[in-house]
Amino acid sequence: MKFCSNCGSADLIWSVPKGDTHARHHCPACDTIFYANPKVVAGCIPIFEDKILLCRRGIEPRLGFWTIPGGYMENDESVEAAAAREAFEETGAQVSILNLHAMLSVPRISQVHVFFLADLDTFDFDGGEESLEVKLFTEAEIPWEDLAFQTTHFFLRHFFEDRKNGVRGLHVGTIG
Ligand SMILES: [Zn+2]
Repeated sequence: MKFCSNCGSADLIWSVPKGDTHARHHCPACDTIFYANPKVVAGCIPIFEDKILLCRRGIEPRLGFWTIPGGYMENDESVEAAAAREAFEETGAQVSILNLHAMLSVPRISQVHVFFLADLDTFDFDGGEESLEVKLFTEAEIPWEDLAFQTTHFFLRHFFEDRKNGVRGLHVGTIG
């Protein structure tokens, strides 16, 4: 950041503002502080009978690797709505959001991932831009070596453990 979007000054400063605890961009001309805070990534595991829906990423990062649908929340929506919208955008699936499955902090990239379980209601993938391929997998078919992210591993590992134990746990953790 270089310019103050409040007064137009081109000399933003990066330091700890008076009375604050963290370094931030702030404007010496008008004293506006530009806070940067973590983003929320919302998603779900779409479930159909004994299978779950995965998508192969059509965009970087991790192009070509498999994951479950998820993405950044928009300002005007709930986290459940964001999870359902991302599922539709990335897989063409209509889902019904069920219980909260996991919440993961990823401080290295300043994100919080909030993932739900979901019923897969309809599934009509016609090849969006974000996914190369969308497919239902049984546990035995999960491409563990080709999953896109550590978070994907966390969500799926706990999902199948829970299913084996006949429970629906809530899994909280930190990665990276
Ligand atoms: Zn300013």
